[in-house]
Amino acid sequence: MDDLIATEKLKATIPEILEEIQKEIAPLLSMGQVANYIPELGDVDQNQFGMVVRFLDGTTFETGNSQTNFSIQSISKVFSLTQAFALLKENLWNRLGKEPSGNPFNSLIQLENENGKPRNPFINAGAIVIADIITHHFEDPLNTILDFMREVTFNKKLTINMNVLQSEKNYGHRNAALAHFMKSYGNIYSEVEEVLDVYFGHCSVEMNCFDLATAFLYLANHGVHPLNGKTYLNASQTKRLNALMLTCGTYDSAGEFAFKVGLPGKSGVGGGIAGIIPGLLSIAVWSPGLDKCGNSLAGTKALELFTTKTGISIF
Ligand code: GLN
Repeated sequence: MDDLIATEKLKATIPEILEEIQKEIAPLLSMGQVANYIPELGDVDQNQFGMVVRFLDGTTFETGNSQTNFSIQSISKVFSLTQAFALLKENLWNRLGKEPSGNPFNSLIQLENENGKPRNPFINAGAIVIADIITHHFEDPLNTILDFMREVTFNKKLTINMNVLQSEKNYGHRNAALAHFMKSYGNIYSEVEEVLDVYFGHCSVEMNCFDLATAFLYLANHGVHPLNGKTYLNASQTKRLNALMLTCGTYDSAGEFAFKVGLPGKSGVGGGIAGIIPGLLSIAVWSPGLDKCGNSLAGTKALELFTTKTGISIF
């Protein structure tokens, strides 16, 4: 009962807090750098910012460009990981580590030192292994992931941006190198090209902040999506996935992100970041300008301001 009253009190404060955050991050919008290593992403107007907070009962608060679609990029790794983890359970960790990498998300060096076993599922190499697992188990792997995303967002129209996909394929030499390298160690089972199609495909899906916050609700609710009652992971697996988001979800600035924001979160080079507070809410922000590690500059600041102003985090 006390919890309920506290949640209702918190909800009452959110509209004003979001308004303040939007004003405070405005000077940062021009300071980041859009991801131009995928040329199609380099064309996005960086003067945009959106934010959505969704509570477990579906109550929603939003501000800015919260309904504008953007490329979710690496945030999609959370959904493919969910499916692979549900499938292989703890055996998943035979092919992947669970330690922060401390290196850029597309680094090759560590992979050689560690014999083709990626440090964690959120660096590109790890997500490519996950894409391989999905490819190995499902007849139509990309659509299996897409259908999952459509289900957890409740957005049947969700789709791939074909221009982004083509751009990723044209310039995906590093990812191809990672995949071939892992195949040489036997850690990729299917054909590299097929696996990369799945990986690039799920990275090229578009969502808006509302979709993303909706999708992340199962992670805030021990694996059960509160809006359809379906179980996607058990409570222990959800704890593990959230722990990985906290320690590895923002790559080589995961430590700083935990320090400043204090939430498990996953970023993508499209400028989105999604996070959760277990038992309470999910939150999605988007602003295309990135910091040097590839995380949204204004988005990270917005999340820091959110946990600071509300006084809630996981710590
Ligand atoms: N598709 C992007 C890549 O492979 C994803 C990177 C990211 O969002 N950090 O480089």
